[in-house]
Amino acid sequence: MNFEFSLDPNLPSLMDEQDPLATLREEFYIPCHENKQELVYFCGNSLGLQPRRTAEYTQEVLSQWQSLAVKGHFEGPYPWMPYHEFLTEALAQLVGALPEEVVAMNSLTANLHLMMATFFRPNQKRNKIVIEQHAFPSDYYAVESQLIHHQLDPKIHLITLAHREDLLFYTEDWLDLIHQQGESIALLIIPGVHYYSGQFLDLKTITEAAHAKGCLVGVDLAHAVGNTVLSLHQWEVDFAVWCHYKYVNSGPGAVGGCFVHQRHAKNTSLPRLSGWWGHDKESRFQMNAQFQAIASADGWQLSNPPIVSLAAIRASLDVFSKAGGMLPLRKKSKQLTGYFEYLISQQLSEQIKLITPSDPEQRGCQLSMVINSPKTSGKALYQHLNDQGVSVDWREPNVIRATPVPLYNRYQEVYQLVEILKEQLL
Ligand SMILES: *Cc1c(COP(=O)(O)O)cnc(C)c1O
Repeated sequence: MNFEFSLDPNLPSLMDEQDPLATLREEFYIPCHENKQELVYFCGNSLGLQPRRTAEYTQEVLSQWQSLAVKGHFEGPYPWMPYHEFLTEALAQLVGALPEEVVAMNSLTANLHLMMATFFRPNQKRNKIVIEQHAFPSDYYAVESQLIHHQLDPKIHLITLAHREDLLFYTEDWLDLIHQQGESIALLIIPGVHYYSGQFLDLKTITEAAHAKGCLVGVDLAHAVGNTVLSLHQWEVDFAVWCHYKYVNSGPGAVGGCFVHQRHAKNTSLPRLSGWWGHDKESRFQMNAQFQAIASADGWQLSNPPIVSLAAIRASLDVFSKAGGMLPLRKKSKQLTGYFEYLISQQLSEQIKLITPSDPEQRGCQLSMVINSPKTSGKALYQHLNDQGVSVDWREPNVIRATPVPLYNRYQEVYQLVEILKEQLL
C-alpha cells in the first residue's frame, strides 16, 4: 500500500487503518503524559520503548537463578553458558551479517576500543585515523585516546572529515580524502546514520575506496541498527559496533553489539585484548594459560555477560522477527518519515529547515529540524512539545530531533506533532 500524501486531516487515520504493521504497537508499553493520555513518543532514536515481553524474558532469568542457582549455567530452557548464542541468528539478520560475524557483548564504546586494539595497528607509514567532524563525543574520545595510547599526537594523526555547509558528509569528500591521504590512513571510523543530522552514509562505496587504498573501515551503527537495512557482510566493512538501547529497544545501558567481518573473525591469530569468554569453549574450563581464540566474533568477548540484559535483547529481537525483519519495517518507515517530511515541507518550509537529507535512501526514521522563527526559539519549542506530551529531543547547538519509529508509532502521531508545530510557528 502506497498512499499519495495530502494535507487531508483524515489521511493519517486511514493510513493507520491500512498499516499491516499497526498491531505491533501492542507489543510495547507506551508511557503516559500527565494528562493520562499516551505520550507521542518520538525519542526511539535515544531510548526505545519497552516491549511487553521484556519482563517475561528477564523474569525467566531471575526465576532460573532462584530455582537452579549455579546449575542455571547449564540447565533450564535457556541456560546461561551459551546464552549469547541464542541472540546470534537474529542479530546477524538485523545487520546483514553471517552468524559467525556478530556477537552481543560489552557496550558500544568498550567494543570500539576492543576493535581498535585489533584493527588499529599503526606503523611508520600508515598511522592515521579518520573520523567525521563533530563526531559523537564518545567515539571521538575513544579514537583520540587510542592514538595517545600508541604515543601518537592526535593533532597530526587524527584526521577529521569536514561536513559541508549543509552539515552533511558527502561521499565524494570521503573519496577525495582517501585518494589524497589513503596511504597514511590506517583506519576510518564512519557513522552509519549520523546522530545529529540523521544522514545515512554510503558505507559500501566508502569502504570500497578505503580498501582499494589499503585502509581498514570500522562503522558506528548506534543510530543505524534496527533503523535501516544493513548488509555489513556484503559491504565488507572490517568491523562495526552498536548499542541496543536506541532502535533495538533493549533498555537503558543494554549490552552492545559487535561485527567482525568473516575474513578477520576466523583469524584466531589476530592480536586482541583477550578474556576467558573469548577462549575456545571446549577448553575454557581447563583453566590453562594458553589463550586460544574462538574462530568467530565470539573470540573478542572478555567476560561472562549480564544475562538479564541479554534476555531483554532477546525479547526485543523476537519483536523484530514478529515484524518480519527490517524490510517491512523499513518500508513503513519510509512512508512514516516521508509523510512527516511532506507535512513540514508543504506547510512550514519557511519556519523549519530540515537538515536530514530528503532522499529516503540517505536517511532512516529521524528528521532533524532547525527552527527559524521570530515567534519562538528551537529550545522553547522543544520544551513546549514535551509539555504537550510529544517527546522529541534536543541536540546542541540548535536541533530538534523527532523520530517516528515503524514498530510503534502511528501516522496520526506525526500529524499531531505537525499540528502543534503549526500552532506555534504560524
Ligand atoms: C548513542 C551513541 C553512543 C553511546 O555509547 P555507549 O558506549 O553505548 O554509551 C556512542 N556513539 C554514538 C554515535 C552514539 O549515537
